Amino acid sequence: MLSELTLKEASEGLRAGKFKSAELTEEMLGRAEGLNPELNAYITVTGDVARKAAGESDQRAQNGGLLSALDGMPGALKDIVNTKGIRSTSASKILANFVPPYNATVAEKLGQAGMVLTGKTNTDEFACGGSTEYSAFGVTHNPWDLSRVAGGSSGGSAAAVAAGTCLYAIGTDTGGSIRLPASFCGVSGLKVTYGRVSRSGVTAMASSLDSIGPFAKTVEDLALVMQVIAGNDVKDSTTLRVAVPDYTAALKDASVKGLRIGVPKEYFVEGLSADVEKLVRGAMSEYERMGAKLVPISLPYTKYAVAIYYIIMPAELSANLSRYDGIRYGLKPEGEINELIDQYYMTRDQGFGQEVKRRILTGTYVLSAGYFDAYYRKAMKVRTLIKQDFDNAFKDVDVIMTPVSPTAAFKIGEKSNDPLSMYLEDAFTIPASMAGVPALSIPCGFSSDGLPVGLQIISPQFSEHKLMAVGHAYQLATDWHKKFPKL
Ligand code: GLN
Repeated sequence: MLSELTLKEASEGLRAGKFKSAELTEEMLGRAEGLNPELNAYITVTGDVARKAAGESDQRAQNGGLLSALDGMPGALKDIVNTKGIRSTSASKILANFVPPYNATVAEKLGQAGMVLTGKTNTDEFACGGSTEYSAFGVTHNPWDLSRVAGGSSGGSAAAVAAGTCLYAIGTDTGGSIRLPASFCGVSGLKVTYGRVSRSGVTAMASSLDSIGPFAKTVEDLALVMQVIAGNDVKDSTTLRVAVPDYTAALKDASVKGLRIGVPKEYFVEGLSADVEKLVRGAMSEYERMGAKLVPISLPYTKYAVAIYYIIMPAELSANLSRYDGIRYGLKPEGEINELIDQYYMTRDQGFGQEVKRRILTGTYVLSAGYFDAYYRKAMKVRTLIKQDFDNAFKDVDVIMTPVSPTAAFKIGEKSNDPLSMYLEDAFTIPASMAGVPALSIPCGFSSDGLPVGLQIISPQFSEHKLMAVGHAYQLATDWHKKFPKL
């Protein structure tokens, strides 16, 4: 089946003339549409857009003028990535009918590389959540077990790749939203260094933390996507002018002999499920067998990460979401509007979901006069200490390995009414977000319930090329990334 190919295999197959992009696209669209009633991975499947792009790509192939390794390859975008002329909802009622007049930089770059867009994937509303249950468009189901969540907030993107409806997908990660769903759905996902990929045109959640990155079956595939999306952008001043390495070439150096792997004791604590611990430790032993050295380390400020994230993130979110007032675009509220203020109140009351409202309230509270110093400023100081934890660790080790989350995918409904237990799912992903360092999630086995589990690998800022080489080495030695869910 073409849908079981990796991006690299498909790209090579297309070049060798084994099939056309149109055939590949038709198969993947068929799955995207056919499986959506069960999975709800997509908010919008863009069949016409995809077929047109596939046709154009086949034309280029015939003329020997393919644009990139991604040309003709079906891919999906999380629905908070704005796409010109295509509805972009951020999974919110407030933007349910919003059709952007422009492309996000990431969409623009992928378009120029020949992307075949299969559709816009489901997410928690404005990326606020860890399970894709807080979407105004319904829950995304896990392809490995439909009664379970796909993780979040980029759950739609992860499920779309895992289910073979596209070869790669773009997600965003503010506190774990690429890594967690990658782990829960058994695919590879990369959270990049803050400032490595332009956020221009991607709906902002928490601006000092947001990052854009790829999902795919393998790390090799992530490298192909990164090559297109990474780099400086004049429209996003946080994208630093750091040269973009040749990511695929860097994978050739996949030897981990002598690699120093930090194993932080703060990540192997009470609450970590026995299954996850066993699989993650097993993966680390595999690295040891390949010649790496495990070094016990400590990241002492880890324990404050979740607490300060839930101050900093809502503060920034509340500021970012203040623009949704229903004046220029977005929901037109139902009911009688007498004064301008009614329009604001009614738009926001009817347009935002529960979880987003909870965060706006927390955010405006921690930013209000008198509390700013006590909460926000203090949280930012602790954030610096967390960053220093990583700086210190990387003096002694090359990468850090940890579980992605304390458990495998949980049941739909299990945590959605218990925000605190939901927030704790991110205890192992938030610290790297605070430090702005890159982190990879790759499949490392299955729990006793048959659910995929991910290994998190963290490395210093702007070392995605080395990080992916370390991940690739594991995928050369193991087969976990080759398993498919039965759908
Ligand atoms: N689950 C986290 C949250 O709810 C992270 C979200 C994200 O990375 N977008 O905020």
